[in-house]
Amino acid sequence: MITTKLKIRTFGDPCLRQRSACVKKVGPAERMLIEAMLATIGEKETDIGLAAPQIGINKQIFVVDLPDFPHVFVDPKITRTEGKETMEEGCLSFPGIAFKVTRPRKIWLDYLDEYNNPRHLECEGFYARVVLHETDHLNGKLLVDHATRKEAEEKKDLLGQLENKTREALKANG
Ligand SMILES: [Zn+2]
Repeated sequence: MITTKLKIRTFGDPCLRQRSACVKKVGPAERMLIEAMLATIGEKETDIGLAAPQIGINKQIFVVDLPDFPHVFVDPKITRTEGKETMEEGCLSFPGIAFKVTRPRKIWLDYLDEYNNPRHLECEGFYARVVLHETDHLNGKLLVDHATRKEAEEKKDLLGQLENKTREALKANG
């Protein structure tokens, strides 16, 4: 079991903006990655979801740490949505910045689990929100893209600071 905490990429890191590649078949490399991702979000109770691009790997994988809910999603496809709901959302890639995000209230999706079994899931409310948030990451979409113009304006300075800090750190690490 890998217990090293993975470095979380923050807003301004280009890997968060890339579209992730389909996995198609989960192999040993993906399984190691999944284990490390689960260990990373398992550390803090506030960490609920983590997508592979957030640790710099552009593969369609995300993990979720919620009770009575699947933990590993590979190549997720949302097949149907219903309703609409607005809630405040946070993201590990936007430390300290929350956004109001409107998303479907209920979703249906197909995905692979870590053993390559095709799965189907129907979920709603907070669970649907977490899945949609993480699926966004796999498409290079971020919380800030959901912000209203007013909210984006209000948080412009905070976002600018975060972006600069991320870029400085990337430069320093070569
Ligand atoms: Zn996120």
